[in-house]
Amino acid sequence: LSLLLAFLPAASGLSAFGGRTGMAALDPAVVGRYASLTVPASAGIRAEYIWLDAVGNPRSKSRTLPAVPGSVDKLPRWNYDGSSCDQAPGEDSEVIIRPRAMFKDPFRPNEDNILVLCDAYTPAGKPIETNNRHDAAVLFDHHAGEEVWFGCEQEYTLFELDQVTPLGWPKGGFPGPQGPYYCGAGAENMFGRHVMEAHYSACLKAGLAIGGVNGEVMPGQWEYQIGPCVGIAAGDEMAVSRYILQRVCEDFQVFCTLHPKPITKGEWNGAGMHVNVSTKKMREKGGLAVILKAINKLAAKHDEHICLYGEGNELRLSGTCETASIDEFSYGVANRGCSIRIGRDTEADGKGYFEDRRPASNADPYLVTGKIMDTIMEDVEV
Ligand code: ADP
Ligand code: MN
Ligand code: MN
Ligand code: MN
Ligand code: MN
Repeated sequence: LSLLLAFLPAASGLSAFGGRTGMAALDPAVVGRYASLTVPASAGIRAEYIWLDAVGNPRSKSRTLPAVPGSVDKLPRWNYDGSSCDQAPGEDSEVIIRPRAMFKDPFRPNEDNILVLCDAYTPAGKPIETNNRHDAAVLFDHHAGEEVWFGCEQEYTLFELDQVTPLGWPKGGFPGPQGPYYCGAGAENMFGRHVMEAHYSACLKAGLAIGGVNGEVMPGQWEYQIGPCVGIAAGDEMAVSRYILQRVCEDFQVFCTLHPKPITKGEWNGAGMHVNVSTKKMREKGGLAVILKAINKLAAKHDEHICLYGEGNELRLSGTCETASIDEFSYGVANRGCSIRIGRDTEADGKGYFEDRRPASNADPYLVTGKIMDTIMEDVEV
């Protein structure tokens, strides 16, 4: 019996306070003891510097700064070990990070603490290969007069820590077919709402333009929207919102994936990152004609766009489950089976925005927004 007991904690995995991931730290009494420590202003503030690794996942580390800076350009540059993020060789490992956007830190208990989103450079000052922000920022700067807005719909799927069982699914089996889950209510339909709500609150607290949230078609899948954001801010806010999502899931001990087709067996919707787009001219009288012209340009470059729209997207863009086929470009009004959708309101008003439904949930928002801008600005003089 004692032998059996000795193995129990491991077998029961993540039971409260007994798990392998230091869950004792989640005892509210223990957490509260440190969260309520008063830190004197003279101790400075805490800045969490965030950057993207070789596969686009957010990484971060902290430093203490003397005071809240007045603006992001007052923040010091920093560096990280690029060899540990698969972005530099060990013998010349330093990657330099430059602060680009600043938000409130929703996790630390002091109002003055901040999140600092950075992009990455070699010591010689060249953007590193995976710095997709750099080119996008140059492009948006160049076309600043267009006042381009992006609204991104980020879908994500929650799993148990085994990374095999979506939240709420029976182990090794399947839940009832899709239908009751989208925007649903009830314990039999909605799994992980506490995670979604915590992320929503944390994003609002950080100061992100999170426009809304909803339960998705596949059980265990959720969506939030960021935007409309102007130009490069869309990519910045998306990157920070994804970072916050991972931190929230860490707290709740839930695994979150942005994989575009987390379940391939059976009829289960994939996960996308629809990108809604408008320029100033599209939002003004006569805008629909400008939108249609942009869609024609996008049609001509379908393959180039698909290449940048996320890994594994071919599993998702099947032509079923509210997607268009990856091989063909299509557009339509109010049609969710098209590559590009024009909303009913935009058609009725003769102006507004369009939705690119092709990007996968794991797509790089800088690459996607940058490519869309590049394509629709093709023959536009500055
Ligand atoms: P859907 O009906 O496709 O699920 P959502 O409500 O989830 O739409 O998302 C719509 C997105 O479009 C939001 O992120 C919103 O900020 C964005 N949006 C609204 N108006 C514009 C606009 N003029 N230009 C760009 N994006 C816009
Ligand atoms: Mn060290
Ligand atoms: Mn949506
Ligand atoms: Mn959706
Ligand atoms: Mn959409």
